[in-house]
Amino acid sequence: MRARLGVMGGTFDPIHYGHLVAAEEALHQFELDQVVFVPTGDPWMKEHAVVSPAEDRYLMTVIATASDAKFRVSRMEIDREGPTYTVDTLRDLRTELRATTDLFFVTGADAMLEIFQWKDPAELFELAHLIAATRPGYDLEAFTANTPQGHPDVTVMQVPALAISSTDIRARVAAGRPIRYLLPEGVTTYIEKAGLYR
Ligand code: ATP
Ligand code: MG
Repeated sequence: MRARLGVMGGTFDPIHYGHLVAAEEALHQFELDQVVFVPTGDPWMKEHAVVSPAEDRYLMTVIATASDAKFRVSRMEIDREGPTYTVDTLRDLRTELRATTDLFFVTGADAMLEIFQWKDPAELFELAHLIAATRPGYDLEAFTANTPQGHPDVTVMQVPALAISSTDIRARVAAGRPIRYLLPEGVTTYIEKAGLYR
């Protein structure tokens, strides 16, 4: 039997139910053995200039996934020097794992639409099967229409529509608006204790 490992990359600043639902759905639909969450190190494609320290984002991801036996968190990107590239992460995982493990890289529709701006997209497709989770506000039809020939290894995955984003959660904390029910309670407690997003 081949092993099937899901990889969920993200800034996770903070992690929220949109991420967790996408990972859970991938686990089920693709019969994965595990999903590993990989918080980014230096997020070069991020639009907002200030990203929380990697250690805080790592800990929030651990807190959010701790109660799920099939979810784990990797430090590989936050411990790596220099900018974060998904292709490096998948290459490292490929080296680390036995050849009998298949990789499934899970992204939301917005990240998938940007995929051809990533480093070495062709190699990305060789290293992993790509799963594009539907996300409110992003049209995956555009991706399918713009996909160059020879890169058919992407599956669109329908997930329950959750119009939750880390950007909105940060803005809510800054404005003193509620974030309850958008993310796990333990993560909210961590945000308060660490004084994030104020
Ligand atoms: P930000 O607003 O800071 O960009 P985000 O909510 O988009 O944060 P990221 O850490 O950027 O979260 O996302 C990590 C991955 O999770 C990306 O592939 C993204 O598309 C996906 N994702 C995030 N939120 C959702 C959601 N609500 N539904 C489906 N996929 C999501
Ligand atoms: Mg994002």
